Amino acid sequence: MTAPTPAPFTPRLLICGVLYTGMGGGHAPGGVVVVGGTVAATGDPAQLREAYPQARVEEVGGVIAPPPINAHTHLDMSAYEFQALPYFRWLPEVVIAQRELRGVAGALAGAGELARLGVGGVGDIVWSPEVMDALLTREDLRGVLYFEVLNTFAEKADEVFTGMRRRVEAWRKLERPGGPRLGLTPHTPFTVSHRLMKLVCDYAAGEGLPLQIHVAEHPSEPELFATGAGPLWDHRLLPFWPETFAQVIGRTPEPELTPVRYLDELGVLAAKPTLIHMVNVTPDDIARVARAGCAVVSCPRSNHHLECGTFRWTAFAAAGVDIALGTDSVASGESLDVRGDVAFARDLYPQLDPRVLVRAAVKGGGRVVGLPTPFIRRGEPWSETYVWSQGD
Ligand SMILES: [Zn+2]
Repeated sequence: MTAPTPAPFTPRLLICGVLYTGMGGGHAPGGVVVVGGTVAATGDPAQLREAYPQARVEEVGGVIAPPPINAHTHLDMSAYEFQALPYFRWLPEVVIAQRELRGVAGALAGAGELARLGVGGVGDIVWSPEVMDALLTREDLRGVLYFEVLNTFAEKADEVFTGMRRRVEAWRKLERPGGPRLGLTPHTPFTVSHRLMKLVCDYAAGEGLPLQIHVAEHPSEPELFATGAGPLWDHRLLPFWPETFAQVIGRTPEPELTPVRYLDELGVLAAKPTLIHMVNVTPDDIARVARAGCAVVSCPRSNHHLECGTFRWTAFAAAGVDIALGTDSVASGESLDVRGDVAFARDLYPQLDPRVLVRAAVKGGGRVVGLPTPFIRRGEPWSETYVWSQGD
């Protein structure tokens, strides 16, 4: 005998470990009363039991929240094998070594996986024009597709920029309301020449195009800005680099120079790029980012696998910086489910209230990719996707 199905208007009381409704700080534990497909009440489970004694209680565990945003990934690398290696080896030995796997097929598989996971939106780095063509018109993808620019030779900057701008002008005509928006991403402060970095960021600011930049991912990156040398420089692919790092950044590396200070003094932070990773930073870097009003995206699993260190969550939050979460590609993050990063971060930051992490994945991500957060509150439609199947 199966239990009789409750009448459609019998209230359900769903009880979870963490409730984030899209506003405020959330509840832990939390409860949601659903009547006939509509949210009737949210809050403390004990109070809701009292107010709705007739409700059928469902212990769902884990998290109830709007779908999370995967604020940083590389869908076009979805056919790559996951491999954990120090970052400066992972770039040549994984990203470049498997480059024939990068492209449209991987991007479509990745986009399909995000749809299957019920993600609320995405910030995706797009390496090739073909991938942009394939993703920009998809109706099941929301968020921002950031076209990636990478070139270390300052004398090539104008040519690369002109080619990029021509493509951007054509793509903007393909943007559709409700679909993904176009953005730009100069890859990192050390793989894009100072001139190209400035051209791209000034153009994006003028055109209202969102920006992402990978910054201070591994300790070898500040080392490169401080000394002009180190493992990142030793592992570079020679034909793609000028003779000295000073030629890339247009100034002499020096002990007090950090990637963030370099970008700030170049005038790039004024364009308010979203800064990805930001693991190896100084208190002065955090203050500069806070002053500029840039958001950051942390990718906890990827940072762990590439031996980058631990993002200083509390220091950024205390400075008032908006934080979002991303998986990075499957090649370093292992999966495209950002709920896995929420779960990983709960172990990584045991002192942090888990409501803060859930809020970052939902609201922080929404701010980065420019999507409104749905509210779980009285009178709003209920969606079963609000029950996260991972992240508890
Ligand atoms: Zn990335």
